[in-house]
Amino acid sequence: KLKPEYKTAADFFHKHDNLLLLVHEKPDGDALGSVLGAAKLLQQLGKTVTLVNDDPIPDKFMFLPLADRFQLPEQVEGTFHNVISFDCGDRKRLGRSGGLVAEGANLLNVDHHVTNDHFGTENLVDLDAAATCQIVFKIAQQLGMELDLDTATCLYTGLVTDTGGFRYSNTTEEVLLIAANLLTVGVSPYNIVDRVMETMTWPQVLLIRSTLDTLGRDESGRIAWVTITREMLETAGGCDEDVEGLVNYPRNVEGVEVGISFREGLPGKVKVSFRSKYVVDVGAIALEFGGGGHARAAGCTVDGDVEAVKARVLTRVQEAVAGAPVHPEATAE
Ligand code: 5GP
Ligand code: MN
Ligand code: MN
Repeated sequence: KLKPEYKTAADFFHKHDNLLLLVHEKPDGDALGSVLGAAKLLQQLGKTVTLVNDDPIPDKFMFLPLADRFQLPEQVEGTFHNVISFDCGDRKRLGRSGGLVAEGANLLNVDHHVTNDHFGTENLVDLDAAATCQIVFKIAQQLGMELDLDTATCLYTGLVTDTGGFRYSNTTEEVLLIAANLLTVGVSPYNIVDRVMETMTWPQVLLIRSTLDTLGRDESGRIAWVTITREMLETAGGCDEDVEGLVNYPRNVEGVEVGISFREGLPGKVKVSFRSKYVVDVGAIALEFGGGGHARAAGCTVDGDVEAVKARVLTRVQEAVAGAPVHPEATAE
């Protein structure tokens, strides 16, 4: 039995046309999978869709159907009265693309982040979902639509990436049942995971090498971190998306509860990524620093140089970890 918001979303799909479809900036597998899967469904319903994002689509996702249809906000004329946003917790994360939303527009907000501020005129925010792709799958169910292979490929991509390859704590029975369903449609699980998770570019591997040199850990052994400077990124010849996943190295160290990456961004700005294992709500911490996310994966961008940001963030995380029980699964040497 689907929650009533699914009916709201299905009605929105039926009722409106000439839709602007948006996702968060620097889109990941779930953002792209959910918006492109939904775009396919809307096209099946005879609707016209416009896809816009502030950032170029990473090469590894270009195999997704309709991925080549994305435009930059500057390339699009006028504003839209009917908009759906996917995998995005607040309007700020839509970036400049959010400027294409007309005053008084109908805006459906489809998302799964705990920190979602319900910025839509209609909101389908399902905190039980591991991925926004899971929500889009259930919208299709609500609509009574059969999935074709293109749509299933999109949805599998977000499901597998947001669960870390079906390994994170958001991997539920429903997630695996949906995944199985998508395989029945004909999805090639190895092919997708190979493209979007396994294959690394050369600069990406070089960046892992230099990043591991920066590993640090606090006295308790429950917090570990890495630092990625602009210089490191340049030396490796890498780009923004190559930083993704580096936070897992500190997170995965035995005994660690919170893993953090500090990444030098634009001058005076540091992008912080948090991952926790069992008890610390890093979404709440990221929110305090002006970001957001989930209880076990979150991020924010903080003003200041790397050392200053590191000091501030580590102090706050130490406080959170000190007040949190040691999970029985956690063992530090
Ligand atoms: P990552 O650390 O991989 O960039 O992001 C982890 C999670 O935190 C994702 O679910 C992402 O949506 C969320 N997140 C990361 N950075 C920000 C941010 O600056 N603002 C908000 N609201 N969420 C973020
Ligand atoms: Mn995302
Ligand atoms: Mn997501």
